[in-house]
Amino acid sequence: MQQVIVVGCGIIGAMLAYELTQSGLQVTVLDRQPPAQAATGAALGVLMGVISQKTKGRAWAMRQISILRYAELIPELETALGHALPWNPQGILKLGFSEEDLVKWQALAELRQQQGWRLEFWSPDQVMAHCPQVQPSDLKAGLYSPQDGQIDPTALTLALVEAAQRRGACFRFDIEVQRLAANGRLQTSAGELEADWIVIAAGLGSTPLLPVPQVTLSPVLGQAIRVKTTKPLGKPEFQPIITGQDIHLVPLGSCEYWVGATVEFDLAENAPIPEPLEEVWQGAIALWPELAAAVRISSWSGLRPRPVNRPAPIVEPLLGYPHVLLATGHYRNGVLLAPATAQIVRDAIAGSA
Ligand SMILES: Cc1cc2nc3c(=O)[nH]c(=O)nc-3n(C[C@H](O)[C@H](O)[C@H](O)COP(=O)(O)OP(=O)(O)OC[C@H]3O[C@@H](n4cnc5c(N)ncnc54)[C@H](O)[C@@H]3O)c2cc1C
Repeated sequence: MQQVIVVGCGIIGAMLAYELTQSGLQVTVLDRQPPAQAATGAALGVLMGVISQKTKGRAWAMRQISILRYAELIPELETALGHALPWNPQGILKLGFSEEDLVKWQALAELRQQQGWRLEFWSPDQVMAHCPQVQPSDLKAGLYSPQDGQIDPTALTLALVEAAQRRGACFRFDIEVQRLAANGRLQTSAGELEADWIVIAAGLGSTPLLPVPQVTLSPVLGQAIRVKTTKPLGKPEFQPIITGQDIHLVPLGSCEYWVGATVEFDLAENAPIPEPLEEVWQGAIALWPELAAAVRISSWSGLRPRPVNRPAPIVEPLLGYPHVLLATGHYRNGVLLAPATAQIVRDAIAGSA
């Protein structure tokens, strides 16, 4: 049986562990902390696949693979573990405010139909009929994607770890990986380790591990908040994720919502500053005025791993190290693209056999 070491146990490492054990590989995942603590622990889990503006090439292919896989994966995990996962299958509604959105989205809805997906173009009246919580006067259009959704990234990661463990994967959450040595072995706090395959899925921690400067990742801060309202916003029976002006409103049930996230490139301060989050919050109230009366329960932040001068994500062999694969740099879509990432890695390993 081929041995695989995965470095990192965010959503990418956990998904790799689950999917690779399915293919009969012996997987060990190493992390220096418990699962879903870094970017994954801050993510909102919005799965913008069909509704994304990507229409061809690898970017669209990965979204398509992931959305198809999620439709099977979530019930598969729920059955395996015997409990429900917190996910929202009621789709994503995107709000548009310009003539440009209107024209672009009509074309996108037609294209998706030709590609075999459902994407509905809504007039402002249709938006407000379905989702009366949306109030902005300058709304031009809505794009509703019933086949996209949202999943709690931490709950999903923990579920993948548990299910992978049951299939024989081994997890160590007390190991700091120092670097990949020139001999192709991993230098770690537990000594030197080797395997048939090594997959670097360490998010922002990936770059310092590499012996060749193939990838540079820069941190992009995201802040978000959890709020509680006195009653559900809009219709209780229809609670899709709604996104407008790059702000997501994510229903969690029990009148609770996540709102976010900021996208902050300039990290001059040591700690997140309140102003960008306040801006997102005021933007959210403009879109969903009832939020003004909501109680803020908590706020948090995380750093997204963004590839410098390259499109995200980076899923490819490490140059000069044919047994090392990079599965990193997922920037704003790691939760969405985790299943497709696992498939590319699995195919690379299988293809070399
Ligand atoms: C506020 C916010 C909102 C987001 N919303 C969404 C969303 O709605 N949808 C979406 O798809 N994506 C979203 N993202 C992006 C998503 O969170 C990331 O793309 C994704 O979590 C990356 O996962 P990862 O497993 O690669 O990295 P991480 O989750 O960062 O995990 C990397 C792991 O590697 C470990 N590690 C690093 N270095 C070492 C080392 N030297 N030794 C041992 N272990 C190491 C770390 O401890 C960590 O556990 C959001 C991100 C943020 C911050």
